[in-house]
Amino acid sequence: MATVVVPDRLTSHVAAGHPWLYVNAVPAIPGARTGEFVTLLGQGRRPIGQALFDADSPIALRVLSTRKDETPGPALWHRRVDQALSLRRSVLDLRHTDCFRLLHGEGDRLPGVVVDHYAGFLVLKLDTPAWLPHLEQLCDALEHHVRPRGIFFKGISGEPEPARNLRGDAPPEHILVREHGMRLAVDVRRGQKTGLFLDQRENRALVRQVARDRRVLNLFSYTGGFSLAAALGGATQVTSVDLARGAVDGARHNFSANDLDPTAHSFVTADAFEHLAACAAARELFDLVIVDPPSFAPRKQALRAAEAAYTKLNAAAIRQVRPGGLVACASCSSHVPMDLFLQILRESARTARRALRVLEIRQEPADHPTPLHFPEGRYLKFVLALAE
Ligand code: SAH
Repeated sequence: MATVVVPDRLTSHVAAGHPWLYVNAVPAIPGARTGEFVTLLGQGRRPIGQALFDADSPIALRVLSTRKDETPGPALWHRRVDQALSLRRSVLDLRHTDCFRLLHGEGDRLPGVVVDHYAGFLVLKLDTPAWLPHLEQLCDALEHHVRPRGIFFKGISGEPEPARNLRGDAPPEHILVREHGMRLAVDVRRGQKTGLFLDQRENRALVRQVARDRRVLNLFSYTGGFSLAAALGGATQVTSVDLARGAVDGARHNFSANDLDPTAHSFVTADAFEHLAACAAARELFDLVIVDPPSFAPRKQALRAAEAAYTKLNAAAIRQVRPGGLVACASCSSHVPMDLFLQILRESARTARRALRVLEIRQEPADHPTPLHFPEGRYLKFVLALAE
C-alpha cells in the first residue's frame, strides 16, 4: 500500500477526526491512483491512519480510519453502515418518519459517501470517483444491514457519471415517504440532490408548530415541504414560490396527497426576488415568511457576492412580514458560517428598518452528524425570528 508522510502540524488534526488532507498540504504520492488506499505516516514514519486517494480533487486524501485495528475494505464498510443505522434508529422517531440520511459522509466516517433512505429505497451519491472501485462492496454492506428494496446511484458531484440502479428494484417514479406523518412524493431521478432536502426535517416540524392561523409565504418552496408543514399546522393560506415548474407542480400534488385542497392555496412559478418585489408593490404582508434559497456561495470565491444577495433577499422578505409576524431564514452554504449568517440577518433587518427577535437558531439534524473538528462540514443555518 502507498504511504504518505503527513506534515507535523496536521497530524493532530487527523488524530482529532478531521477527515480531509488537501493536495497542497501533503507530499506527492508517486504512482498512486484514484481509489487506492494510502497509509498516513506521522513522526518517525509511524502509521497514524488510512485514507482514500483522489488524484484529481483538491481534497487528495479522505481519512477512512485512524485506528490500528481497522483496515479499509468490506469489514470496515460493514461496521460503518451498521453504526450509522444504529445511530439513526436511536435518535430518530422512525415510527412516523421513513425518510432520513443513513450515511452522511464525513460524519459517518465514510467521507464522500452520502446515502439517503426513502421508504425502503436507498439513494447513493458520491463526492468523489475514488469510491467507484469500492461501490459494489458498499452495496453489499448496505444490502446486508438495511435490506432495502433497491439501491439507486445518483452519480458523483461535479462529474458526468450516469445515474443507474445498482441493486434490487428500480425506484418508482415517485416514492411516497412520510416525514413526521406528513406525506411527500420523492422523485429521486429528476429531483434535486437525492430527491428531498432531508436536512430541513426538524425545521419543517417547527414551522408546522408555529403556523396556526397564519398567512404564509414560502420562497424557494421546491416540492412544498415547508408549505405542507404550514398548512397541516393550521395556516389559513400558503403561497409557495419556486422557479422550477416541476417543483411547483410537485408541491401542488403533495397538498392533495395530504388531503389538503390545493385550490385554497397559491402555487407560483416565479423568481423569488421578483415575487417579493411584486408583493411589496401590492403592499401584501404575511404572518410568516420562509426563505430557504439554494447556496449562493457554492465556492469560497463567490462569498462577497453571496453576502450581498442573501442580504438583499432577507431584507426584502422581512419587509413583507406583518409587524409582530415571523420570518424563517435559512442558508445551506458551508462557506457562510453561523456567525456570518447572523451578521447578514442583522444587516438585512437594518436595511428593512425592522427589529428581529430570535426565537430559534438551528443547524443540521442528528442524521447529518459532523465531526467537531470538521467545521467545514457544517453548512445549514436556520433562524426563526419575530419581526417587530
Ligand atoms: N425549502 C425546500 C428546499 C429548497 S431548495 C424544502 O424544504 O424542500 C431551493 C429551491 O430554490 C429549488 O427548488 C430551486 O428550484 C429554487 N430556486 C432557485 N433559484 C430560485 C429563484 N431565483 N427563485 C425562486 N426559486 C429558486
